[in-house]
Amino acid sequence: MATVETAVNDRMLRTGFAAAAKGTPSHAYIIEGEDEQILRSLSDYFIKLLLCETNDACGKCLSCRFLAEGGHPDLIRVTPEKPGVIRVDDIREGLVGDMGIRPYRSRYKIYVVEHAEWMNVQAQNALLKTLEEPPSYGVILLLSCNTEALLPTIISRSIRLKAMSGGHGWERIPEEDRYRLGRIFSGIKGADTAGVNAAAEQLANEYAGPDQVLGGVRTWIRDVMVLKLSGAEDRTVIREALPALRSAAKDYTWKQINDILEMTDTAEERISSGVNTAWQYELLLERMR
Ligand SMILES: [Zn+2]
Repeated sequence: MATVETAVNDRMLRTGFAAAAKGTPSHAYIIEGEDEQILRSLSDYFIKLLLCETNDACGKCLSCRFLAEGGHPDLIRVTPEKPGVIRVDDIREGLVGDMGIRPYRSRYKIYVVEHAEWMNVQAQNALLKTLEEPPSYGVILLLSCNTEALLPTIISRSIRLKAMSGGHGWERIPEEDRYRLGRIFSGIKGADTAGVNAAAEQLANEYAGPDQVLGGVRTWIRDVMVLKLSGAEDRTVIREALPALRSAAKDYTWKQINDILEMTDTAEERISSGVNTAWQYELLLERMR
């Protein structure tokens, strides 16, 4: 089901991929989301960008034609022997053992692991060794519907790209609260520790609950991503905070954006299991600072 929101996010991801393909891609990406179909189409697009001779998914060059015909010598799909679990031998044979061989015709050699959450611990440890010292041309794409099943050490060495779906409830927040939220988020960049603490207390005491605050953070970051990738101000949601969004889009790195989204998920889990709300907001705001 492709909602407008999904489509927007897919487009953002695609643009992000294009930037990565033109610059220097990282060695590992976790492309995560709920819909396998979307993950596959996003990763196929990324692969095309990386392998295309013009870095533009032109569809005409020899690399693009190889891909269209179903195979490229520098694209390896790691397929498990049995569905449901990816074992250490699958990773050794499909990835670790092959990565030492240089690419045939492209700048990169790409390994795709679908259902990365199927990897058992031994398989993940084998992958981890490669992630610790990858050759310059190696790019690993892990497609995952359940990133929590991956070792923290794998996650920390990868760039996480979320194919988000669904809205974040910004439209359900009362208008005056939206305005204040926007002001708090705008003020957090460059705030000192006391400022962060005060803002966290304010969020915890003056808002209806984590749905509003965390939904607000997600919407804020979504807007930052829109501006960072396309500069399209008419596609932002929090219009009232445009100047602050513009400067956040300049300041935040992709790494920081991923950290913030990750911390938002963590805060949501912890708050629902009873951990002190203001403290979680503080940790989150620390990352936005
Ligand atoms: Zn091409």
